[in-house]
Amino acid sequence: MTPLERAARIARRPGRAGLTAALLCAGLTGSPPAVAAQSKPRIEVVFRYDDFSSVSFTGFETRLLGVFQKTRTPLTVGVIPFPVAKNFLDPSPQPTMPLTEEKSAILREAIQAGIVEPALHGYSHQARPRPFWGQFSEFKGLGRDEQMRRLREGRDFLKTSLNHDIRIFIPPWDAADATTLDALQSLDFLGVSAGFDGGVVLVPESTSLKFLPATSDLPRFYESLRSARKSDCSSTVLVVLLRDADFSEVDGKRSFISLEAFAEMLTALSKQSDLSVVRMADVMSRPEYGPGLFVKNKKFVSAESLIYPWLTDLFNLNNGYYLCAANIAVVYPRAAKLLAAYVALVLIVCFAVAFRSGQWIFPKWPWSAAAALFLTFSVLVFLAYDIQRDADMTYKGMTGLLMFAGFLLGQLAALAWSWLGRRRRFEQGPLEEWRI
Ligand SMILES: [Zn+2]
Repeated sequence: MTPLERAARIARRPGRAGLTAALLCAGLTGSPPAVAAQSKPRIEVVFRYDDFSSVSFTGFETRLLGVFQKTRTPLTVGVIPFPVAKNFLDPSPQPTMPLTEEKSAILREAIQAGIVEPALHGYSHQARPRPFWGQFSEFKGLGRDEQMRRLREGRDFLKTSLNHDIRIFIPPWDAADATTLDALQSLDFLGVSAGFDGGVVLVPESTSLKFLPATSDLPRFYESLRSARKSDCSSTVLVVLLRDADFSEVDGKRSFISLEAFAEMLTALSKQSDLSVVRMADVMSRPEYGPGLFVKNKKFVSAESLIYPWLTDLFNLNNGYYLCAANIAVVYPRAAKLLAAYVALVLIVCFAVAFRSGQWIFPKWPWSAAAALFLTFSVLVFLAYDIQRDADMTYKGMTGLLMFAGFLLGQLAALAWSWLGRRRRFEQGPLEEWRI
């Protein structure tokens, strides 16, 4: 088996066999999109690599850029100008290590060769103290003046060090806010690559910024490519996030591919007639990649991320590419219906189970009602606490919350049922046969 085949095999999701009528809710069949593809879509792939800095793995990065140079493939690199020296996640004061001349020279060479497109990836990449319900962030929540200062100083430093214009911002942990967008527009940035995970919450319709979030990663690449080829768009974009831990040269245990196999993969891609690898700015320069399309994509991804992957597979909702407007009109209503049906099903089933078992158990052992309510409520609180730590609701977290909310409601209903029954018997007075 070649490394390429191995990569494709790992990327494949578990099969979808054995799924039948129980899931065939009205309008939710797994048929292909109503608007069938007239011709094969033209696919553009953007590779994005983050965290290039004076504290990242120089030896590995030199070899990675060598692979892109050898295969003449463009790459967008998110560079941290002044990374903190010890720990990105620790908000306490730390010394910073500005991009060294050695690392600048590596990038400059790749930029001059027409391979690398540099982007600003934060200022120090140091996390701010995390709010109660919030994810790691360097920029989100900061005041406008401080965001402006970091963006301007970071951009100007990279511009001088790399001798190249910096027009794209990639916020650390994908987390930015409306203030970040406003500051980026004032500083004349072209666009921002973020938003599906960290969430740019408010996107002003009037902004001139362009948006192109990461839509896939290396382990999911082939699956995303298959979905893009089936789409009904005339052209689609895949933004593939590369992590150093994806490569066996960095992480022997969790890695997905070796640099050698990755080079083979890039060579194979260059031979695909319907596909081209491009720079992020090439895509962002087009008018359709503005706030309107981004907000629609984000809405879809928010719904899709709450549905189990085997269900999104079954209903052709799994994508991994940036949806075009025609695509969204087909898949978003399907995702919303599927999500509503799933929420109702889990709630009703869990409510019914708890209600029936409560009707049977609570009258026999009254103390069990207090114990069951206490346990269910405790699990519900624990789940909510666990989800808020990442501020990231996934399909697993949502299913857990729905299940225990259903159990709690069912138990309360069973308790009310037995209390009403007892009250009715009390009001009726003693039964005939009990009278002397
Ligand atoms: Zn980063």
